Amino acid sequence: MKNMLINGAWVEAHTKAEREIINPFNQEVLAVAAEGDTTDAQLAIEAARAAFDQGEWPSVPAAERGRLLEITASFIERDIDELMKLETLDTGKTLIESEADMKDIAGVFRYYAGLADKHGGDIIDSPIPDSTSKVVQEPVGVCGQITPWNYPLLQAAWKLAPALAAGNTLVLKPSEITPLTTIKVFELMEEAGFPEGVINLVLGPGHTVGQELAASDDVDLISFTGGIETGRKIMQTASGNMKKIALELGGKNPNIVFADCDFDIALDQALNAVYFHAGQVCSAGARLIVEASLHDAFVAALEERVKAIRLGDGMEEATESGPMISAEHREKVRKLVDIGVEEGANLLIGGKYPEDPALADGFFFLPTIFTECRSDMTIVQEEVFGPVLTVETFQTEEEAAKIANDSIYGLAGAVWTEDIAKAERIAGKLRMGTVWINDFHPYIPQAPWGGYKQSGIGRELGKAGLEEYTEQKHIFQNTKPAPLHWFSAAKGR
Ligand code: NAD
Repeated sequence: MKNMLINGAWVEAHTKAEREIINPFNQEVLAVAAEGDTTDAQLAIEAARAAFDQGEWPSVPAAERGRLLEITASFIERDIDELMKLETLDTGKTLIESEADMKDIAGVFRYYAGLADKHGGDIIDSPIPDSTSKVVQEPVGVCGQITPWNYPLLQAAWKLAPALAAGNTLVLKPSEITPLTTIKVFELMEEAGFPEGVINLVLGPGHTVGQELAASDDVDLISFTGGIETGRKIMQTASGNMKKIALELGGKNPNIVFADCDFDIALDQALNAVYFHAGQVCSAGARLIVEASLHDAFVAALEERVKAIRLGDGMEEATESGPMISAEHREKVRKLVDIGVEEGANLLIGGKYPEDPALADGFFFLPTIFTECRSDMTIVQEEVFGPVLTVETFQTEEEAAKIANDSIYGLAGAVWTEDIAKAERIAGKLRMGTVWINDFHPYIPQAPWGGYKQSGIGRELGKAGLEEYTEQKHIFQNTKPAPLHWFSAAKGR
């Protein structure tokens, strides 16, 4: 039984409710987890509130907070085999992907461990004589953190490490369907020595546990990663006490390929951009925007490569792509594909569940390509969050940027060309939080990640990711206080 960590104790849900955690490859039960509700969330918030208001944590020296994060990073590396297997079993992604995730996660903890004591504040050169002025960075308080199922532990790490580096206390709620690695990392943080009540983990659904984190007057900041509709609800709910809000939402990310690119590299990476983790990636390159003169050759080569993608069990070395996360999500993808066909896009390959009996128990969907797409089609505008690529064409540089920007989203995009000046011009025009030139997908803990437009509010990672979790306080001191004699009564005395 996998329990929740509230105020330093591993506890069941107060109702004793439980949830089975399922392997999306074969639907076997991997574990049984506590299923908390609003009351459990309130208990965890109370614990985090007390640890912040009455505990020592906010005044623990930043170097010590960094040391605990560094120990956590080393524990993640020590237990990497267990963590990567758990992530693969829980999400269906391949072991090699999970291994990369775990290395990145340790890297994120280590980055914020190093940054914790290098963010003290600023001395201001005050323009007022006989005064000093300084700006200090303080923790925001109690943070509510809500994470999705596609990168369960990676998204949690992006929130946990900076929040703790800055001296906050927190309550984290992972996706109810993929909590296993997050539970394990809370065990590791406890082993590292984070004090009772500082780190709290509540398991359970969004509409109860998540909703309470967004609504509670005792939560000072809510940080959410997930879908746009949930983000909208959280934003509305969070307005009750004007808590600080950070949203990492979806994307419909363009991959712009010019005819003067390195064909083989652009082709190989176009596949990775969209079909990695069965397309269940916020920054998936799901919109291929290819120069018209290159279209036929590029799409023909893509189709050949797509036919060869090996679907299977993420635990098997030969597997190149695992299943989708759930029957419900796979069905949503299938319906969007039907809409694409109805709207007149050309279904070149895929578009259905595989017929291979070896895959019958998993939530698989065949890698899919739609050609002859227009920007106004649903399949081009909506985040499908599955292995579905749409192809559009352009004639000029201006047109490429215009098509790429024609979206409510603005998370990430890429441009492929050997003309670097052209690549820089396009990068300057794209309204997105990340632009890759001759690459796709890399992010680094040192640089900010987040979205323009409806892809979100705020940034994770980098120094910006730490600043999200701090309040700035200006402390002004008059070093030669004297009466002002502003009001007449004072003048008369
Ligand atoms: P989701 O919005 O359905 O759920 C995300 C989390 O929110 C889960 O923990 C869920 O339980 C919780 N939740 C659901 N309803 C809630 C409510 N009413 N109040 C509070 N919490 C609630 O998203 P998902 O399906 O788990 O994840 C996929 C989405 O996440 C995609 O849209 C993807 O683009 C996005 N995502 C974005 C990033 C990024 O960095 N921008 C990274 C990963 C995933």
